[in-house]
Amino acid sequence: MPTFTSEPPRLPDGYVFRVVRTPATACFTAVVTSLEVVGTQTHFANNRTTPCDGIDQCALCTDGFSRRWHGYVSCVATPTLEHVLFEFTAHASDTFRNYHDLHGTMRACQFRAFRPSKRNNGRVVIHTAPGDESRMRLPEPPNIAKLLCHLWNVQYNPEQPTRMNRPPFKTVGLGGNGQTKPQDRTPTPAESTNGLRTPTQPLQPPGLRHLG
Ligand SMILES: [Zn+2]
Repeated sequence: MPTFTSEPPRLPDGYVFRVVRTPATACFTAVVTSLEVVGTQTHFANNRTTPCDGIDQCALCTDGFSRRWHGYVSCVATPTLEHVLFEFTAHASDTFRNYHDLHGTMRACQFRAFRPSKRNNGRVVIHTAPGDESRMRLPEPPNIAKLLCHLWNVQYNPEQPTRMNRPPFKTVGLGGNGQTKPQDRTPTPAESTNGLRTPTQPLQPPGLRHLG
């Protein structure tokens, strides 16, 4: 006699995450499950993205391949509800960095990513909205660095710090979604100590904002 269940057997533990990029003509919408962005320098070689081993040790650097930073968050895509890795460029990461700055975490961030030009490699714009984690049962995030190493078939070093180094792009100011006033924001520990935001990170007029 068959055994009936409400769902299929659990998948074996492993790496079943897909890497998803912003499509050319549609929106990608999702809810972030990771606490922060994890990224690294990469090359595009042999028709795929591969990690850079570091300027002094990397064969692809020696061969003249240009380096590009790519960032990743794990997220539940909507409406399919697939848990995936979302890949984005340094430029698009500005929005996520400001979101993290405002909310202290990336987890539960709802976002949609799209290319206004509707071209394959057109600039990506990301719109965010804070999600209420208490009303969602989000899955635990994967170890993104370990997952990427598996996908790229390179050794994972658990000692390696996974905090991203800030890519070489200036901040685009506070209030990324235009709804939060800077004074409503909880100061970071460094700012609490100093009293004010550091003068090296001036606020910019709204006209220069990425999301304006
Ligand atoms: Zn390299």
